[in-house]
Amino acid sequence: MPERKKIKVVTTLVDMDGDEMTRIIWSMVKEKLLFPYLDMELEYYDLHVKRRDETDDQITIDAAEAIKKYGVGVKCATITPNGDRVREYGLKKAWKSPNGTIRAILDGTVFRTPILVKNVRPSVSRWRRPITVGRHAYGDIYAAAEIRIPDAGRVELVYTPADGGQPVRRTIHDFTGAGIVQGIHNTDASITSFAKACFTLAFDRKIDLWFSTKDTISKIYDAHFRELFEQEYITNWKAKFAAAGLTYFFTLIDDAVARIMKSEGGFLWALKNYDGDVMSDMIASACGSLAMMTSVLVSPHGWFEYEAAHGTVQQHYYRHLKGEETSTNPMALIFAWTGALRTRGALDGTPDVAAFAERLEQAAIETVESGIMTGDLALLAEKNPPPRKVHTEAFIDAIAANLDRKMI
Ligand code: NAP
Ligand code: MG
Repeated sequence: MPERKKIKVVTTLVDMDGDEMTRIIWSMVKEKLLFPYLDMELEYYDLHVKRRDETDDQITIDAAEAIKKYGVGVKCATITPNGDRVREYGLKKAWKSPNGTIRAILDGTVFRTPILVKNVRPSVSRWRRPITVGRHAYGDIYAAAEIRIPDAGRVELVYTPADGGQPVRRTIHDFTGAGIVQGIHNTDASITSFAKACFTLAFDRKIDLWFSTKDTISKIYDAHFRELFEQEYITNWKAKFAAAGLTYFFTLIDDAVARIMKSEGGFLWALKNYDGDVMSDMIASACGSLAMMTSVLVSPHGWFEYEAAHGTVQQHYYRHLKGEETSTNPMALIFAWTGALRTRGALDGTPDVAAFAERLEQAAIETVESGIMTGDLALLAEKNPPPRKVHTEAFIDAIAANLDRKMI
């Protein structure tokens, strides 16, 4: 067979390996879908839970630092150890979530996008293109101070300036009996950083950005989110968005929810912490399976870390260890790689790398649409063409065969 000319990825990619079933799929994806076509340099960080334990989790920090250095990383799912895992793997302690550690170092926002295929229809039949949800993951009710009020009394908000200035007070409520009270906060720095990450991702993907809050009711708190987004847009993105034909659209959250149901999708929906928590689960569930949900951490400094939204698929791994064939879905892991490659291609100015990512995604989607799929999708898919459930490796081989045809 003639030697295939490989596509050159000019900048090193940061490759973070993981645990259990996804670790096995990770190497299959590289062997069968990437290495045969790409000439790429990977800086490999093994985030296997034992390696993290041996290095006192330094390896996770090193991986995050490498993403800062090169700009783009791609991560396999990893175990976040709890007591059971400490015993199972004989760990020194229950190390922190690697995703949490990496996010703290890169200061990023997580965006989730479903992979849509024709034969697994979203519950909302109008949706043609994926809706990406960006959730602000700082403050609001997730860092609230709450008090249960036992009986009559006044509750106030008090701001005491650090420089010794006059305190500012506002009465929340004069209670005449028992009740509850909650104090929430956010910071300009965190909101601006969230806005930067949202504009960065929308621009990177060439999709419109929607942002919604309840600013008609919350005239200071929610309105300030709107103001800071507007400020970031005007200062850093308005010209770039116009040149790329992209829109930034703010609307009241109620209006956004109504419009989403009538839309065809294909944009980024930025949401405050609670709204994002709830709406991301709604979009995920409406689109079918956790195994079809991709995830990317975008830092306001322009660094990207791609992964699947799901975990290590522990139960499938135990079946695999017993010698059983598993039908674990590799789609989101494959799309983590294509997301990273597409961004790498854009940053490096190498359209052939981005085009390869596109072809691989198409090959994967067409495989499912031809009826060849893993068990999780076979349960959801329409009957035409008849879904044929295959095990993981056979599914990846079918994608490779499709990809081969596209690469000639
Ligand atoms: P999980 O690995 O996402 O799996 C939960 C269930 O979802 C599976 O048992 C399976 O259902 C289904 N599923 C998920 N991904 C699938 C795929 N690719 N193909 C087919 N089915 C899939 O969550 P978990 O079992 O709660 O967590 C396992 C480990 O992952 C934990 O140690 C956790 O710390 C870690 N985790 C890591 C990340 C991350 O690194 N980003 C995220 C979440 C969890 P069926 O059993 O019904 O087939
Ligand atoms: Mg939730």
